[in-house]
Amino acid sequence: MSPKKSKAGGDANKAIILHKAKDLRLENTSMPSPPGPDEVQLRGEYCGICGTDVHLWQEAKLGIFEVQKPLILGHEASATVIAVGQNVTNLTVGDPVVIENAVPCCRCKFCLQGTYNYCEACTVQAKGLPPADGLIQQYYNHPAAFTHKIPPTLRLDVAALAEPLAVSVHACNRAKVTFGQKILVCGAGTMGLLTFLTAKAYGASRIAILDIMQSKLDKAIELGVDGVILSRKGMTAKDLSDMAITSLGGHPDITMECTGSEICVNTAVEATQCGGKIILIGLNPNKLSLSMSKASLKELDLLGVCRYRNSYPQAVELLSSRPEFEKFITHTFQLDQAMDAFESMQKGEGLKIVIKCN
Ligand SMILES: [Zn+2]
Ligand SMILES: [Zn+2]
Repeated sequence: MSPKKSKAGGDANKAIILHKAKDLRLENTSMPSPPGPDEVQLRGEYCGICGTDVHLWQEAKLGIFEVQKPLILGHEASATVIAVGQNVTNLTVGDPVVIENAVPCCRCKFCLQGTYNYCEACTVQAKGLPPADGLIQQYYNHPAAFTHKIPPTLRLDVAALAEPLAVSVHACNRAKVTFGQKILVCGAGTMGLLTFLTAKAYGASRIAILDIMQSKLDKAIELGVDGVILSRKGMTAKDLSDMAITSLGGHPDITMECTGSEICVNTAVEATQCGGKIILIGLNPNKLSLSMSKASLKELDLLGVCRYRNSYPQAVELLSSRPEFEKFITHTFQLDQAMDAFESMQKGEGLKIVIKCN
């Protein structure tokens, strides 16, 4: 069962390893073993960092996930194939790729019906979340079925957006966003902006975005959003809803909630058209107080979003066809500057910070 080709062993494999809360180190780790029959071996190109990584760095835990042993961080990666296992037919050496980091079992009922994002294995095999080592490293193996080839014309740093963009694609698929709809997006951070651009690509006719920071709304305007709503202290969900309806010229058919904040979820309930949908992308670890009777009487559908499924091809297509995504890559750091990258991310600088892994 030897692989067709393998990277010669012996070299150092530099990685960003979280030992415990606030203890992040650049260290040499072992080279991966030759890829298994269904795996590819990859040279990491770029890995984006996001709030999840910063949270893990600061707390060494995130919801149910806890760092029990040193963990390589990173889950938003582009790479180049350097070796393929003997059963691999979809990829060859030299292919540029993006990595779908949560690997399902491919055997349970959810996997068999295509809803593999519900597979329990995804939770323990999501690279970059404990206990599975992540992708801010120079070399690693990954199942070929969850390694997606990208066009050679797509910049490898921009390609690292595929993972968060896949969430937006899945959210738009869940909401069945279609031509001519009005959409309200809550939150103009990276997820909100990716989601607004995805909804626009799906044909939404008018999109308004809401945030508490004017600088973020300015970025949304630069990216072509139709309307912005600045949420100020003391405003109620009703105030924000009225502003959204004015901005959109009517109630949104769909509200895409990317903040997890209580006022935004209630704004979504206030604003969304009767019979409309609210997509819950933002997560809040706390319980929220929600006007459920209003949501019920308006027959609103509240839809959850768990990562993505079968969404990478569409995410790659979006990245390849729309140059505005290049504007997201505001900061690039070398692997040995990774601490600066995390500090920059913690300060809320830029839109997407990427680390060059080789
Ligand atoms: Zn992320
Ligand atoms: Zn499964």
